[in-house]
Amino acid sequence: MNKNTDNKLTAISEEHRTLLKEGAPLSTFFPVKFTNGAVADNLHCSCGNCGKRIDDERTRFEGHTPNPDLLDLRGVGVCRQCSVLTPFRYRVRARAKLFQIEGPSPKGDGSWMVWRLRPARPAFWNIIGWARYLRRYLHAKA
Ligand SMILES: [Zn+2]
Repeated sequence: MNKNTDNKLTAISEEHRTLLKEGAPLSTFFPVKFTNGAVADNLHCSCGNCGKRIDDERTRFEGHTPNPDLLDLRGVGVCRQCSVLTPFRYRVRARAKLFQIEGPSPKGDGSWMVWRLRPARPAFWNIIGWARYLRRYLHAKA
């Protein structure tokens, strides 16, 4: 896993180009119904540069389901406001009666951290940009 492509602003790589060409809007991977009955309705991406929500039609993702209770997503989104490309990496995983959203750990060691834990009947929710999350995380550590 190349940590430079994981939810951090970076130069556009070959992988991003491939995602832009062959990926599908994030909404096409939802809803996800897990074996525990939890349903993940949707995810929203926010621009890593300006923090504004990126329109679904401006996102391109690839999704893999290594098992029925794990959706592994990798994608990019291009902000309408500032035209910056933000790479995204998420995992949505069933946990007990719930599901959780995970992102790459800021440690950059390839491990994952739980981002949000969601009840089994979620409404729409909003994902804030990983860059904003990271900033808060680092601030909390300081
Ligand atoms: Zn933006």
